[in-house]
Amino acid sequence: MPIRVLSEDVASQIAAGEVVERPSSVVKELVENSIDAGARDVRVETRAGGKRLIRVTDDGCGVPVAEVEVAFHRHSTSKLTSADDLSRITTLGFRGEALASIASVSHVTFVTRSADEAVGALLRLEGGRTITRQESGRPPGTAVTVEELFFNVPARLKFLRTERTERRHIDAWLTRYAMAYPEVRFTLNHDGKVVFQSPGTDRLRDVLVAVYGLEVGAALIEIAPDDQPLASGIQVTGFVSPPSLHRANRTYITLFVNGRWVQDARITYAICQAYHTLLPTGRYPLGVVMVRMPPADVDVNVHPAKSEVRFRDGDAVFRAVQRAVRHTLIQRSPVPIAARPPTAWPSAAPSWQDDARERGRERLAGLRLQPPGEQLRFEEKPAAVGADQGGVLVPAAERLPPLRVVGQLGSTYIVAEGPGGMYLIDQHAAHERVLFERLLAEREGARVASQALLEPLPVELAPEAAGLLEEHLETLSSLGFEMEPFGGTTMLLRALPSLVADTAPGQVLEDVAAALDVGNAPLAGTVEEAVARQVCKRAAVKAGQVMARPEMEELIRALEQCASPRTCPHGRPTMIHLSVEQLAREFGR
Ligand code: ADP
Ligand code: MG
Repeated sequence: MPIRVLSEDVASQIAAGEVVERPSSVVKELVENSIDAGARDVRVETRAGGKRLIRVTDDGCGVPVAEVEVAFHRHSTSKLTSADDLSRITTLGFRGEALASIASVSHVTFVTRSADEAVGALLRLEGGRTITRQESGRPPGTAVTVEELFFNVPARLKFLRTERTERRHIDAWLTRYAMAYPEVRFTLNHDGKVVFQSPGTDRLRDVLVAVYGLEVGAALIEIAPDDQPLASGIQVTGFVSPPSLHRANRTYITLFVNGRWVQDARITYAICQAYHTLLPTGRYPLGVVMVRMPPADVDVNVHPAKSEVRFRDGDAVFRAVQRAVRHTLIQRSPVPIAARPPTAWPSAAPSWQDDARERGRERLAGLRLQPPGEQLRFEEKPAAVGADQGGVLVPAAERLPPLRVVGQLGSTYIVAEGPGGMYLIDQHAAHERVLFERLLAEREGARVASQALLEPLPVELAPEAAGLLEEHLETLSSLGFEMEPFGGTTMLLRALPSLVADTAPGQVLEDVAAALDVGNAPLAGTVEEAVARQVCKRAAVKAGQVMARPEMEELIRALEQCASPRTCPHGRPTMIHLSVEQLAREFGR
């Protein structure tokens, strides 16, 4: 093919791919424009998950009639004039690309009136070309309607997920902006139904109640103002969970830098680190943390969707966040954690490696079975090979030999002996494995033990969580959860698996939703397994729990029956095996 300059048309579609990936990216860009326009009331409406229609209406400053068409030119913006301005960005937008990109892959109707003008304008574009331009009356502000998204990009259209999934992404963006701008009232309407509304009271806690429900919203603790403002000019505000409230993954930690939602592994880590020793392993805090700093100290122009930023001094940000959260937990947590030994708090921001080493030490503390420098090895038995009835060679059963319980160690491990030597079994991991295989077998036979609630219980959930549950009602039902959507983001829970019958139902549903969020666990296997894993994790005996000998024996008998007794459902080992030979070697026999 000869080399040619791409037509404007094609070029614009290629670039559009970066900004406009799916309906939620359109919502994000339009809402950002409304916020930049100083709106106090932003309404978002979608049909068919945004595939059929997206409309964002605001009461912001509007666009003067003379500038309406220019707004749709690529790289046209009112927020920036020189490259120098890039270091002083205080608006969400600045590239002047969004409207052009959106218009190039859809049909757009843009109706706007500047507060300074008596009459407004209506502009209709299809695939970026102006179709209609006329005067129009409307209150000051702007309404942008996007229809037929990706009508001219079949490849992208094909990759759109179910309406529900697209709605879920839209929900996520809207709740983020509602948190970042509590002074703005956001309303989200899907297919004629209002699913979310923030109060616009300028109080973040009110927004958190709207997003997470009353229970969680009221429990979150406000980050205490710092008595000694940092020289770096970094200010940290927001809310974090008390140690009694936690989730199965980090998705409930929401970060904003200068009013912009960002993903930042290091800040997230700083927050989790502040909870060091306060949360059970594998559990994470909830938090909405706002970092403010001089615009010159943060580069917002490093990511196509601007959801990552680069700090001039990342260490200072890390320290400021960790210090603010830690300070808050000590001062305001309802649990008297200040009385804990000071070693619970690492004094300075540790490196990631330090922390991993620390965790390794904790895990092995008191377990000095091997000479220093040599690692305990997890048993790696070569898969024995046998013949099944068909004569085909298959790995022989991975099953355990019969074991005799010797006792419990540190209320966490079961010591057992078998023909092959000593087994040190992680009671929680082993129990998880036993429950997991049972639950999946019961599901297979459609006989999962389920416990009906005396009265159906409305459970208020975060919009994303509610969407996920709704999407998987059938799977959930096969595992013993009976529930139905109950308006807005509430689920009416009728029954849950007997395994978790005495756990707070709200917590169970949030955890299950987290497990369903396949994006968090790309290698998680089937949805059924992800849910089953979560349920079993909840139900299994915990580390630190004293077990009576008959309980231990029962657990070991059950583990012997498992098809894969050597790993927990999350893939971690359930046991360490020290063979007779190994023991003899260690003792120099
Ligand atoms: P950017 O936000 O990066 O400037 P956009 O393509 O999103 O680029 O918007 C182009 C321009 O159109 C903006 O700079 C702004 O002046 C104007 N504009 C877009 N949406 C609105 C709105 N809702 N209210 C007022 N002005 C708007
Ligand atoms: Mg913009």
